[in-house]
Amino acid sequence: MLHISAEDIYRTLPMAKCIEIVENAMRELSRGTTLQPDRSIMPLGDGNAMGIMPGSMKSPAIHGVKLISLYPENPARGLSSHQGVMVLFASETGTPVAILDASALTAQRTAAASAAATRALARKDARVLAILGSGEQSAHHLPGLLEVRAFEKVRVWSRTPAHARAFVERHAHIAPSLETRPSAREAVAGADVIVTVTASPEPILEGAWLEPGQHVSLVGASIASAREIDIEGVARGRFFVDSSQAAASQAGELLAAINAGKVDNGHIVGEIGAVYDGQLKGRRTADEITIYKSLGTAAQDLATANEIWRLLESVQTPLRSA
Ligand code: NDP
Repeated sequence: MLHISAEDIYRTLPMAKCIEIVENAMRELSRGTTLQPDRSIMPLGDGNAMGIMPGSMKSPAIHGVKLISLYPENPARGLSSHQGVMVLFASETGTPVAILDASALTAQRTAAASAAATRALARKDARVLAILGSGEQSAHHLPGLLEVRAFEKVRVWSRTPAHARAFVERHAHIAPSLETRPSAREAVAGADVIVTVTASPEPILEGAWLEPGQHVSLVGASIASAREIDIEGVARGRFFVDSSQAAASQAGELLAAINAGKVDNGHIVGEIGAVYDGQLKGRRTADEITIYKSLGTAAQDLATANEIWRLLESVQTPLRSA
């Protein structure tokens, strides 16, 4: 069995390739060829939790489980807020074939999933990107989104201004005209694409600020009680999800809008995989607002882990037999 480190993951699967793998995984999810029981979240006290995410895919034929501790205060200790492992099994024999660092896997696949959704839903002429949040996910979303649109300006807002400034210093070499903004509202004004990647439980983005033609990816809130955009924002957008099944119980922004009677279940246009598959129209006009709600799926973890394992295994096998 291979033990695959964070360094192995980043070295083996560059972002551009990961976007293609994840897009295909979402296609398979929407075709119904993957099995994805709802994830369990076990509270550990002090705001910490453990997530257990099982899943299986027919193509490729693999199954596995991601075990991940969620420790929001970890970045202050210099550690990722996501700590864990993914165990990958080959479905033909049921044999475990790899254990992967789940922090890097999650960071890479989530950013790749948002990039694929942005490629499908944002206007082709999008030039201004706004990132709300400056943590680990933001750091991976920036290169991911730069793969899919020719952004000329990138704005970053973060709750702690020093963190936004540090983000700009760390990433200025990869992003054109990367600047901080003092408020979320100022970051999103005039932006073509907005990505929310914060651990905020309450909305940091208001529907009243949205402008015609914007695309919004909501990534940071992945439990029913957390929201990054308010009810008006949900109602204003053509709303796509990664998984309809997961959204029905975990998409906090959508659930709040439904509970308030502002939208009904039919507000979900469909799964992003159906858009990739050509079954569903993504953006229809230059003026409409599109929203992609990311909760993260086992199919993304499995397909990404499988690709990395196969690439590393193909290097190791000749070495072993030599
Ligand atoms: P980090 O801990 O690295 O960064 C957290 C970010 O959230 C920081 O920018 C922080 O701002 C900001 N933040 C925290 N609390 C608040 C608040 N109350 N109001 C506004 N901003 C706040 O986390 P990650 O980048 O790894 O993850 C970000 C979020 O994405 C998490 O909620 C995580 O669970 C979620 N996630 C979602 C995935 C998906 O598939 N959809 C996958 C992985 C993660 P500052 O530092 O400036 O204070």
